[in-house]
Amino acid sequence: MKQINQSIYLLESGKFVNIYAIVRDNGVLLIDTGTPGKADNILKELDGINVKPADVKVIVITHAHPDHAGSCAVLIDKTHAKLYIHKDDFDVLLGKAPPPEPRDFLEKIVAFMAEHFFKYPPPKDAIPLEEDSTIQGFEDLKIIPTPGHTPGSMSILDVKDSTLFCGDAINNRAGKLIGPHKHFTFNREQAWRSVAKIGAINFNTLCLGHGPWIAESAQEKVQDLLVANKPD
Ligand SMILES: [Zn+2]
Repeated sequence: MKQINQSIYLLESGKFVNIYAIVRDNGVLLIDTGTPGKADNILKELDGINVKPADVKVIVITHAHPDHAGSCAVLIDKTHAKLYIHKDDFDVLLGKAPPPEPRDFLEKIVAFMAEHFFKYPPPKDAIPLEEDSTIQGFEDLKIIPTPGHTPGSMSILDVKDSTLFCGDAINNRAGKLIGPHKHFTFNREQAWRSVAKIGAINFNTLCLGHGPWIAESAQEKVQDLLVANKPD
């Protein structure tokens, strides 16, 4: 467990994928849940900062990939939290629609691994979000659809702590921001438009789906990334 700022923590149970907790007096909101089988570790980590299962009121999934959504169903059973996801990833999360077709060999390998090693029990239900939706008890958080990585990828802005959670819309490779992954990105053009959308938002700290967070001046770093990748 690492504390990012006053109310935001990074849980380390996810290992290569980040799970964040926004801890407030009225309850705790989790962003993403790691791969399947992480629920007990997550709850044990939260216990370390005196957060009990019943304190977890909301779980938000940034997008319906198994490394982010894998433990959500078990966590919902144990906490009775409300589960939210963008409406365009809703059916995939609930197992009502298949994930988008893999388009090349590497994506096929990853899809095979996801199917065989990261298969997760789908949650029974969730609340679909879209632009300007609000989350009960956390009404100040802004939902910002940032599609491209998946059709329903979204970011969450915590204005109070000037922190943006961007899921896999932007990546951090060894401390340097990089854009949407060449593979595993449903629509790269759309994904870059989402990076531009993020670059236009005012925030200081960026919490990514993978890799270390950017503590300071993160908006400028996203703008630098956009300039560096500007198509001719
Ligand atoms: Zn992803």
